[in-house]
Formats: sequence, C-alpha cells, structure tokens
Amino acid sequence: MYLRPRVAPPLASLLGDVPFLHSLVDALGSPLNVLLPEAVAGNAERFRAVYRRHRLAGRVYFAHKANRSSALVRRLAACDPAAVGIDVASLAELRHALGAGFTGDRIMATGPKDREFLWLAARTGATVNLDSPGELELLAGLVREHGLGTVDVLARLSGFEADTALGAGTRVLSRRSRFGTPVAEADALWDALERHADVVRLTGLAYHLDTTGLEEKARALERCVLLMDECRARGFAPRAVDIGGGFGVGYVEDAAEWERWTTALTEAVLGTRPPLTWRGHGYGLRNEGGTVRGSAALYPAHRPVAGPGYLDELLTRPAPALGRSPATLLLEHLHDLHIEPGRALVDQCGLSLARVLDVRPAEDGRHLVRLGMNAGDVSLEEHGVLVDPVLLPRAPAGGPEEPAGVYLVGNLCLEADLITRRLVFLPRLPRAGDALAFVNTAGYAMDFHAHRAQRQPVARTVAAVREGGSWRWCLDEDYWPISHPGGVSS
Ligand SMILES: *Cc1c(COP(=O)(O)O)cnc(C)c1O
Repeated sequence: MYLRPRVAPPLASLLGDVPFLHSLVDALGSPLNVLLPEAVAGNAERFRAVYRRHRLAGRVYFAHKANRSSALVRRLAACDPAAVGIDVASLAELRHALGAGFTGDRIMATGPKDREFLWLAARTGATVNLDSPGELELLAGLVREHGLGTVDVLARLSGFEADTALGAGTRVLSRRSRFGTPVAEADALWDALERHADVVRLTGLAYHLDTTGLEEKARALERCVLLMDECRARGFAPRAVDIGGGFGVGYVEDAAEWERWTTALTEAVLGTRPPLTWRGHGYGLRNEGGTVRGSAALYPAHRPVAGPGYLDELLTRPAPALGRSPATLLLEHLHDLHIEPGRALVDQCGLSLARVLDVRPAEDGRHLVRLGMNAGDVSLEEHGVLVDPVLLPRAPAGGPEEPAGVYLVGNLCLEADLITRRLVFLPRLPRAGDALAFVNTAGYAMDFHAHRAQRQPVARTVAAVREGGSWRWCLDEDYWPISHPGGVSS
C-alpha cells in the first residue's frame, strides 16, 4: 500500500545524500525545509520551452503565495526579464519581490488589494490585475490624488459558466469564484475603464480557475480571446491573455499505486477490508447503508500530465466553440500569453525534514511515529495531497527488515495533530533518531500553514546548491544568485 513519491534528478541526488541531510537537521533542528533554487529556474525554462514550441510571447509569473522563500524568488529574478515575472498577492509579497530584484514591470499584483498595496504597485510600475470594479475606482482615485502616472491593468474575469454567448450546446460547469468580475457584468467594467482611461490602461484580460479540468480552462481561454475582440471594438488596445495558474504537480510516481490505494480506501469505507486510516477517517467518503457516498477531498496525486505538459495540452487541444487550438487563436490575434504557475513552478524544488522522536504501539496493532514537526509544518494533508515520506536511517540496517504501517503524528498536545490520517507504509519501522523526508513540499506544503502553537519552532529554510560533486547550503535569507560561498557558481 505504498504511495511512493515522484523524485526527479536534483532532488533525488539530495535525498541520496543521507549523511548531509542528517547533519543539516542536527545543526538547524527539526522541522527543516530544504530548497533547490536551481530547480525553480529549470522549471521556468521548461514552461518557456512550451512557449517556444507554440511560438508564443508573454511571461511566466511565479505565484509567490506558493512559497515564502527568498532564495526561490531571487533565483527567478535572475532569469530572463522578458520571460519570467512574479505574481504577488499582498503588500508584503510585493515588497519582497522588489527587494529580491524584480523591477515593477515584471510584477503582476493579483488578489483583492488595499490602498497601500495598490499605491506601491502603481508607484513601482507593476501591472494591477483588477479584482473588481470597486478596486478600479480605488486605484483610479489613488493615481489621480498622488499623480502616479498611467497604470497598466488586466481585468480579471470569472463566472464563465453563466455566459451563454458562445452558443455552444453543452455548458461546462465551472466553479464559482469569489475573485474577479463575472463575465456577465463585464460591460459595467468596460464602462468604468473608459471613464478612467486617463489613469489606467487596459493591457489584457485574466482569469485564474482553481481546477485541474482542462475543458473548463480551454473554454475560459477561448472566451477571453473573443472578449479581447470586444475590448478592441470599444477602443481599448489589450495585448495579453493571462490564464492564471493551476497546472498541477504529480506527487505519486506510480499510477498503479494510486489506483490501488484509492480503490482500497473505498473498500475500507465500505468495511470490506481493514481500515487504511486513523479511526476510519474517510477523506470525505462515507458509508450509507452499504453504499459509498460523498466525494474524496483528495488531490489527484498521480498526474500523467502536469506542469508544462499540461500547458502544452491546453494550448494544443481544439477549443470547444471555435474548434481551433488556443495556441493558434492567440498567435493569429498576436496576443501575448501570461501564466501564473505556483505549485507547478516549484515542483521538485524542495523537501521538508523531520526527526523521528518516538515510536510506540497504536490501538490497532500498528505504530504511532511522533515527529519533530506538526501538521502545520507539512500541510500535505491540508491540501489533500497523499504521498509517502522517505525514511532516512540514522544508522545502517543491522539485519533483515520488513515493511511497517505507521501513523505519523505531530509535536502538539492535540488529538488532531496528525501529519497523516492515513496508514503510511515504510520499508521498515522507523526508530528514534531516524529522519523522514517529505518530498516536493515547496508548493503550499512547507510554510503556508506553519505557526508557532505551543511555541514549537517554525522550520528554518535553507537553500542547497550542488557544487562540484557535493551539496552546499546557506540560510534561505542569505542566498543570492551570484557566485560566492554558499551561492551559485555559474
Ligand atoms: C493561487 C494563484 C495562482 C497559482 O495557482 P497554482 O495552482 O499554485 O498554480 C495563480 N494565480 C492566482 C491569481 C492565484 O490566486
């Protein structure tokens, strides 16, 4: 019942250096996050390769909210300015991006914004991805009041499902979003943009759909291309379509393991096999008189197509109404394509380490393994991502060993502090002093939910760089993408 992680070369090499990882935890404590700044640059390059294949222009904006790290943001700032930008969703993220070396023209400000965030974005020449007509009024007022100069804006749209202008027979249900202006109310937004044409310039349309559904995204993209024509007809000169993020990551390597586990979960909920989870937790599934009800709130952890491959597929498959590929539509209209990958851009860029503190028998004959971290430090479960950690033995095996099913629990005096509510199978029962590595946690899992409950330490974060035949590291905040001890030698 393994769900073994997908591990690509740089991260695999780091994982293979068990003594190095143990020495890091010995020195810096548990939990500990390790990031690979070179890997994020590699991912940006893979997205760029998709642009080249389709001969498209535009930028890859890293959705900063996926990770707080300075090293990742600084490494991305060092990438080709015409190709890589950053999407910031708060005043603090904007300040961080500016301090990491991004100039305003490479920054996209998204999400709902307050006055201070809008002022600094306008002041530094960032593009404001407008969340609502109200935000436009606020921005226009600030620009006039403070003489800030014309601001580039994108109009973020939502509610594509309620729109029937395409006349396509089947209507794909798209999730409702709290963000953006519903397409049905776009006319009022265009009116407002016209009214404020002296202080804002509409440079494109945007959306972000929090889904893995290709069909839904293809439909929204096509709709935006058509709306771009409408905008031009009204005298605007938009150039770019920003399709947001949500390209996804494959966490589990093997499709069969994922199939087997999800099937077994259903059987366990039905009671036709022993429980797979702590006290029969069903991840959203329940047994109602012998029938499984509900839907599993799980991330599709095995993804045959994710990240740059997903973008490629989205651009290639014929769009629902016009029947041509989105790539062709964008090219013919000479539109730039912007994307805002978060999770997918930090795929394989980091891991989270925890020391094994204690191993004891559990009520069902399995074992409880207590770690030097809590559920906030590795929020895989929080996001429905199920994947096994990798056991990093403290000492070499003394004799024959057999697989063990364990529950991983955290360092809080809280019944709910389970790192996994699922029985996790490891090659052997861990021992105190071993470490576990949670792989591929750079996207939302390593610091998104971290907190200081019980005054437990928040993980330190280090950047690791391969130099010569070995790994070097420095604290995340000390990393700069230039050649110096602990930095990159390029
Ligand atoms: C969160 C977010 C993203 C990134 O989403 P991923 O699923 O991590 O790729 C991109 N754009 C906006 C506006 C977001 O809020």
